[in-house]
Amino acid sequence: RAKQAGRNRISFFSAEIEEAIRTRHTLDQKMRQAIELDRFEVFYQPKYDTAIDTIAGVEALVRWRDEDGSLISPAQFIPLAEDNGLIIQIGRFVMRTACLQGVKWHSQGKLLRIAVNVSPIQLMQPNFIEFVRAVIAESGISNHLLELEITESVLAHDTNTILETLNALKREGVSIAIDDFGTGYSSLAYLKRFPIDVLKIDQSFVRDMLVDQLDMSIVEAITMLAKGLGLRLVAEGVETLEQAEALKALGCKIMQGYYYGRPQPAEEMSKLLGVS
Ligand code: C2E
Ligand code: MG
Ligand code: MG
Ligand code: MG
Repeated sequence: RAKQAGRNRISFFSAEIEEAIRTRHTLDQKMRQAIELDRFEVFYQPKYDTAIDTIAGVEALVRWRDEDGSLISPAQFIPLAEDNGLIIQIGRFVMRTACLQGVKWHSQGKLLRIAVNVSPIQLMQPNFIEFVRAVIAESGISNHLLELEITESVLAHDTNTILETLNALKREGVSIAIDDFGTGYSSLAYLKRFPIDVLKIDQSFVRDMLVDQLDMSIVEAITMLAKGLGLRLVAEGVETLEQAEALKALGCKIMQGYYYGRPQPAEEMSKLLGVS
């Protein structure tokens, strides 16, 4: 009987695994199709500079439009795209689209910084610098208005390749931002070693900073760190006026979050900027 139960358990688990593999394979196929059918879109979320009361920049965030018109969130498909390599193509599309849109806004008198998320997989591509250079040349975007958001996990690898890539980007005049700062496994030593321009306080700290003293202390420490190191600072996930006020009081001036605007299509963003 024990043997029987054991066998059942094994087949139960393998059925589950088989199911997971099937689901994954289906999503994989769907993603390839979506690329062919141009089902990916770029949304833009404002970054608001409270010191000058203006939208100073936008973050480009990819969206996948399903056949039924609904949106599939990047949290659902970016990890798979990183595994199956399609993040390279998707990431290229996002950077091209965002730079072209940026140039359009710049020509309309809105000198916004354009921030684009870059996956570690992209950053580790040997031809990544050439790609960025080509996008800058083809779009005509001012290099100093392009900002690449990377996560701490990239820097945890701490390889010479990553260092060389970031230094090369720096030479291209592009800014480097650390996304979700404070959540990754990392040592602060990388702030000395890598050419970083911006820290983005992770939204988890901002969310609870007014109710949890520990989160408040972390936000305070990151603010001081940015000031001491001469880095620009952006708070993510600002949802209320109270959070914005508290951040301002600590010296953080640039805010990103639903309180200032949700990620939205370029046309909506243009309206918000008053250029449509
Ligand atoms: P992220 O780069 O940290 O982007 C911020 C995320 O927080 C976005 O989620 C945004 O919609 C969300 N957010 C902004 N303000 C608020 C707020 O006030 N409250 C809350 N609760 N959330 C807020 P989204 O667009 O779903 O993207 C999730 C993640 O997917 C991004 O996190 C980024 O890591 C990744 N991602 C998005 N687009 C791309 C892309 O083009 N390439 C790559 N490699 N990754 C991307
Ligand atoms: Mg980001
Ligand atoms: Mg983030
Ligand atoms: Mg994130």
